[in-house]
Amino acid sequence: MTEDPIRFDVYGKVALGATAEAVDALHAGGAYSSELAARIAIQESIRIGTPMLVGAGLSWHAAEALRSSNRPFCEVLVAQEGCSIGERARYCALHELFFAGCLDCPVCSGDFVP
Ligand SMILES: [Zn+2]
Repeated sequence: MTEDPIRFDVYGKVALGATAEAVDALHAGGAYSSELAARIAIQESIRIGTPMLVGAGLSWHAAEALRSSNRPFCEVLVAQEGCSIGERARYCALHELFFAGCLDCPVCSGDFVP
C-alpha cells in the first residue's frame, strides 16, 4: 500500500486593510464552504489574534506562493496537510514547515506534491 504524496495547509493572518481581498481569496480558494464562513473565520482570527486556515490541501508550489506574497495574508505558516500547528508538530527550519510526528519533513524526504 502506498500513501499519497503530502499536501499542505497554509495558515495566516489577514493583512491590515485587506479584509475584503481576504474574503474573496478564501472563498475562491475553497478552504471555506461559503463567503459567510470565510468572514466568520476572519473575524475570529482578528479577535483572538491567531493565524487562520487560509488554504487547505495545496501543492508545495501553491503554499510557497501564498507565503511569499504578503497580501491579503501575512505571518503565513505552512504545515503538512491535517497537521495542526501545535506543540506536537515538528518543524523543518530548512523548509519552514510544520509536520506531523514520526516521519521526517515531507519536503526533505521528497514525498510531497510539488
Ligand atoms: Zn525539510
